[in-house]
Amino acid sequence: MIIDLHTHSTCSDGSLTPTTLLSHAAAAGIEVLALTDHDTVAGIEEAQGRAAALGVTLVPGVEISASWRAQAVHVLGLWIDPASPALLAKLRTQGELRRSRMRKMCVRLDKLRLPGAQLLAAVELQPGLPTRAHLAQALAAAGHVASADAAFRKYLGQGRTAYVAAEWPPLEEVLGWIRAAGGVASLAHPARYALSSSARRRLLGDFAAGGGAALEVVSGGNGNQHVDTCATLALSFGLSGSVGSDFHNPSAAWNPLGRSLKLPDGVTPVWRSFGL
Ligand code: AMP
Ligand code: MN
Ligand code: MN
Ligand code: MN
Repeated sequence: MIIDLHTHSTCSDGSLTPTTLLSHAAAAGIEVLALTDHDTVAGIEEAQGRAAALGVTLVPGVEISASWRAQAVHVLGLWIDPASPALLAKLRTQGELRRSRMRKMCVRLDKLRLPGAQLLAAVELQPGLPTRAHLAQALAAAGHVASADAAFRKYLGQGRTAYVAAEWPPLEEVLGWIRAAGGVASLAHPARYALSSSARRRLLGDFAAGGGAALEVVSGGNGNQHVDTCATLALSFGLSGSVGSDFHNPSAAWNPLGRSLKLPDGVTPVWRSFGL
């Protein structure tokens, strides 16, 4: 069974609409797919409709930005109730944080003699809740950098000249939102954070103590060399394992939907308690 529990659509920084994403997933042989847009569930209803027509099981999800000791971390909320009024209220606040951070980054770009207002307008024309990826695309499209990747290296990566840290809510709060919406929390791409291995263990300790259920052991956002380390971490912190491509864009051919997402033996799949 091919399972992919981490994907994005045009409702955040993915390039495919929820409908098209589901068509691609079905064509790739995926049987269970979670749509996990950044801080929004706006695409779930559309995805659900298309999934039902294609015979794909859709897991309602979201990738929530949180902070842990000044480090931004991403928490997947899987099997959440996308209609939960409490969750929707929190996600509206996340959206406001994203929009205000985007305005601040554009002010920074303006100070760097780039057309901040125009770049902001270009981001706002794009459909999804804004992320740095939208701004990187706007910088590249206007020819200020050679590629979105170069925009992160020059301006938008952590600590670069136009980078603005967002004041994301604390990890333990976000874990509470996910549980209150009936979901399970999985820590996304655990190898991607700029943390020492001892700090990473403290993060996982806090994550598990706060009600986190799973670790994204196999992640397109991690690289395959981290699978064994993440499996060991999941086992030692009593977490189950999730798998996800972190798919954004079919032109990123090295990171397709659903490929190489086999959880190592010994790690309990997070989907087991959902009868899959
Ligand atoms: P944000 O949540 O607004 O900080 O934006 C983060 C998103 O930008 C991530 O989900 C990735 O899709 C993308 N991203 C982050 N770092 C890079 C990078 N170095 N190169 C390309 N895309 C990146
Ligand atoms: Mn993204
Ligand atoms: Mn992420
Ligand atoms: Mn993601």
